[in-house]
Amino acid sequence: MTQGPRIAILGLHLESNRFAPVVGRDDFEAKLVLEGRDIVDDARSTHPRQPAAGTGFVRDMDEAGAWQPVPLVIADCGAAGPIDHDYLLELVARMRAGLEAAMPLDGVYFAQHGAAVSTRISDPDGLMYAMAREVVGADVPIVSVLDLHANVSDAMVEHADVLVAYRTNPHVDQYERGAECARVMRELLAGVRPQVGFIRLPLVAPQVTQLTATGPYADIIRYGQSRMDERVMNISILGGFTYGDTPENGMAFLVTTRGDAQLARDLVRELAARTWADRGRFVPRLTSLDECVRRAVETGDDPSRPALLIADVADNPGGGGRGNTTWLLEGLHAAGARGVALGVFNDASLAAEAHALGVGATFRARFNRDETDQYSKPFEAEARVLALGDGQIIGRSPGSRAGMAVDLGPTAALEVGTVKVVVISKRTQCIDPGYLESFGVDVGTARTTVVKSRGHFRAGFSVYFTPEQIIECDAPGLTSPNLANFEWTGFRRPIYPLDPDTTWTPPL
Ligand SMILES: [Zn+2]
Repeated sequence: MTQGPRIAILGLHLESNRFAPVVGRDDFEAKLVLEGRDIVDDARSTHPRQPAAGTGFVRDMDEAGAWQPVPLVIADCGAAGPIDHDYLLELVARMRAGLEAAMPLDGVYFAQHGAAVSTRISDPDGLMYAMAREVVGADVPIVSVLDLHANVSDAMVEHADVLVAYRTNPHVDQYERGAECARVMRELLAGVRPQVGFIRLPLVAPQVTQLTATGPYADIIRYGQSRMDERVMNISILGGFTYGDTPENGMAFLVTTRGDAQLARDLVRELAARTWADRGRFVPRLTSLDECVRRAVETGDDPSRPALLIADVADNPGGGGRGNTTWLLEGLHAAGARGVALGVFNDASLAAEAHALGVGATFRARFNRDETDQYSKPFEAEARVLALGDGQIIGRSPGSRAGMAVDLGPTAALEVGTVKVVVISKRTQCIDPGYLESFGVDVGTARTTVVKSRGHFRAGFSVYFTPEQIIECDAPGLTSPNLANFEWTGFRRPIYPLDPDTTWTPPL
């Protein structure tokens, strides 16, 4: 006989780059759509496939005692473009039907990302919470985890009881935050009434300024945590996802207290004001493409120099980039920069051709023969097939995929002049050295490593590189931190740093 609270589990995991191609059913199903029992079975498995905040919630609830999970739908497309609105409505309808059929429920847990946009609306996440609230009523707790890149809307705050955001970037605390949501859920079930203070600043912090090891974002998160005490349930500070280009963009501050509304208001105002005073530090410092190539040549020629890591931050699949821009590849190849490892390059046709040719074959590699996106510029060069693989790897520790099963699709390591390139078939960012080394491309001995990632690589690659060895390249791409490169239409203006004279006064 099962006992304990009945908790629905559902979620949409999508970070939408409004400038990237639209995604729908096929894209989600190719990545991950879990329904019903599979959600809980996956969370309890050795190498779960779902985002770790779902796993953390389920396992913490399991450890705490009897409960009745009511798993409904988790749809995950990672970082991509806007979701097709009809498919969004279909997912919401499936979630609604599941919730209605499961009533009476004691609680609802959203394993959510929080930065989705659809082809018609800017706030699918708020729409989902509102739907859940409508079904379960005012008294059933709704708790949601959020990526710290979520763009928090008024509707999200209104319809959920407690929002808990990651506090690390790279995100190495997803599991812990999921577990924290389970603890919050149990407090709410025990009768604690949360009070939430919420402020959104007119500040779009370019993604590269949102690291949590050092820098302005690290400082405010650390300060926020120093203000935790027994009255405060959670402090979440969300950098937001710039490329969503929505009216909900802007750094968001959430302070949730155990029933103390005044404290929630005072503390959230203090945190927001502190960040606003510090806003000048949220302006990125990038290295030009030419300078990156020059540094790589120098590093290749002089073994006494420390190895170099170039982050191709403008082509980050973790932010909706296609993982296939060729500016760095072409530049490093043309310059003959020695000892370069580059990855992971998303080109399924090229990987398939290499598989057909076999290890040791030489051929004319044509990068980007299929894609027509403005940044997917073709590039051709003589290449040799160094290694082939099926792309099934386990994420390494440290790293934000540690222990998780990762599917890169058919994969080929190619030698293109002085550059070794790992070509994959399933678009994803390069999270840890295993993404290259599993295919024979040794990061430890490379003179220069190029990763298609904005910042999540920093945990995994810390085994080889100190922050001083890492530079961020100002190449073109869908995720360029150079905000002047885009035509923004969704932001509420004025917004800093696009509008340098933006003002903000703390609410009373
Ligand atoms: Zn994120």
